Amino acid sequence: MRVLRRGDGGPAVAEVRSTLAALGLMPAVGGVHDQFDQVMEHAIRTFQQQRGLITDGLIGPATYRALRDATYQLGGRPLAYLVSAPITGDDVVTLQERMLELGYDAGRPNGVFGHQTEAALRNFQRDYGLTVDGICGPETIRGLRQLSPRARGGRPVLLREQERVRRSGPRLTGKRIVIDPGHGATDTGVAVEGVNESELMWDLARRLEGRMVATGMEALLSRGPDQCPDESERAAFANEAGADLVLSLHSDGNGSPFAQGVASFHFGTGNGTTSTLGEAMAGLIQREIAKRTGLRDCGAHPKTWELLRLTRCPAVRIEIGYLTNQDDRRRLSDPAFRDIVAEGIVVAVKRLYLLGENDQPTGSFTFADVLAHELAKAE
Ligand SMILES: [Zn+2]
Repeated sequence: MRVLRRGDGGPAVAEVRSTLAALGLMPAVGGVHDQFDQVMEHAIRTFQQQRGLITDGLIGPATYRALRDATYQLGGRPLAYLVSAPITGDDVVTLQERMLELGYDAGRPNGVFGHQTEAALRNFQRDYGLTVDGICGPETIRGLRQLSPRARGGRPVLLREQERVRRSGPRLTGKRIVIDPGHGATDTGVAVEGVNESELMWDLARRLEGRMVATGMEALLSRGPDQCPDESERAAFANEAGADLVLSLHSDGNGSPFAQGVASFHFGTGNGTTSTLGEAMAGLIQREIAKRTGLRDCGAHPKTWELLRLTRCPAVRIEIGYLTNQDDRRRLSDPAFRDIVAEGIVVAVKRLYLLGENDQPTGSFTFADVLAHELAKAE
């Protein structure tokens, strides 16, 4: 689809306007309105902010998909697991959250009706004496409406994620980490004065890979040097590999040369649903990188980006420095700096699996300490 922006007009714009009105983000007025004006741009930005999307006021594929998903309410259409083209939408999120509240493991509430959602639904149907067909149709909806909602909290699936890590223990040996260097091939990412994001991140990925392997972890790269899989292919790779953790490496760019620093992103909807471990990992990475490199700490934030949403294990996307900022660009161009970043990330991963045990102050844990710790555990 074509990206829609302020100044555009036509039937596609009219359709989005009516969706925004239905969502209560724009006044619903009569007549023909097919112009992408300032009011509409503001509504799009608000919507993007609510959804954890990039707030650029443009309607590209991700925003368009989120708008379409937002129009579905539970009960408005039957839901089932379609293997070849899984159903997505806000109605699926509501169903998943209801299943979770009732104690059924429907997976992370990501709005995709997958096999786990179906399995949870079948268990619910069995327990409540409904037809066990894995389809959320009128009978199941009636069943769900009759149940009083239980107290919120708990979020069993996200707690289970954390429990799995706790049980797997503080050793790094045997952990399988997918390192995802952003962009690739003809997609260079941010490119300024001959420095480009895809090459830098490829180099950083290799440095990180070497250190991870040295500490006994299994490190897999999500792409080759000349490939650029899309976000869902990268997520599928991690899922098929049975990854324990996904680390996606990027640098940022901005219209302002003053924007600088490091930021990390984990799965979360911004209204309470969050990957506990993803959030913990993002926080640890922020602390270690900011402390070791002096890059400005721009914080850890919940997002619903494809890669974060579709991976079954905790995933963190790190935006390391702004290539449009002279200081950040100079630092990232230095291989020694990229070594420091790689070490900071390895230490952050180690801290995640220690879960607060043997805690040492941020920035003081060295790569040598991590190696020594692993060797001591191995004895
Ligand atoms: Zn990027």
